[in-house]
Amino acid sequence: LVEITEVHKSFGALHVLRGVSLTVEPGAVTAILGPSGSGKSTLLRTINHLEKVDSGYVAIDGSLVGYKKRGNSLHELREKDILKQRTEIGMVFQNFNLFGHLTALENVVEAPVVAQGKTKAQARRRGLELLERVGLKDKAHAYPRQLSGGQQQRVAIARALALDPKILLFDEPTSALDPELVNEVLDVIRELATSGTTLIIVTHEMGFARDVADTVVFMDQGQIVESGTPAELFANPHEARTKAFFSKII
Ligand code: ATP
Ligand code: MG
Repeated sequence: LVEITEVHKSFGALHVLRGVSLTVEPGAVTAILGPSGSGKSTLLRTINHLEKVDSGYVAIDGSLVGYKKRGNSLHELREKDILKQRTEIGMVFQNFNLFGHLTALENVVEAPVVAQGKTKAQARRRGLELLERVGLKDKAHAYPRQLSGGQQQRVAIARALALDPKILLFDEPTSALDPELVNEVLDVIRELATSGTTLIIVTHEMGFARDVADTVVFMDQGQIVESGTPAELFANPHEARTKAFFSKII
């Protein structure tokens, strides 16, 4: 369970998140839509404390993200504890962010060995299973530069899964891909969704959001303007800003 409560975040004078609250149930798929600059990536980054919130809080399974409560005040966790917390939250970025000097399998094996103390043999066995799950068993020993964008993104998904995170965050996972490669990545995410992984995905793929999401959230100017099931939101948006956005995009 992810609870985001009244989160505010500014960059200097720019008030980017203006009181965002959102609850995500275990196993649910939440799609976040909204125009460029509306704060979607920033919101996602607050969930694993890549951005510190100015006020409000994020909690996962009842534990505050990035902070510890002592008496009535909040204290930021130590770096080590933040990193430990982050292992429970997988993140997949638009530009894959693979380690270029490591093979696909080495990319997947790295974090479980370094951050979770798994043995290399354990991590390799699990890594091969995960590469198979994303359809890339035969590319285990290829380097990122030898892989297509879609393949690289599937390696990035396998890498995120390798830590057995409680939740997976996707920030526009297909928007850097050539159109013909989008579906192979969406198919992997769809498979994760149906297997009960908790997902939050920022996407411009409306069809995908409609098919796969349990909840669609529309953000604009740092606020959640409205949210609902895809059927509710796409068929019958209430707010003018949501209507305007959908009419431009669909
Ligand atoms: P897009 O759809 O283009 O990815 P977004 O909804 O993800 O947009 P954010 O990346 O969250 O938007 O950015 C929201 C606003 O915050 C933008 O105006 C952006 O320029 C600003 N911003 C984001 N990160 C920083 C930062 N580290 N420093 C200063 N400003 C930032
Ligand atoms: Mg973004």
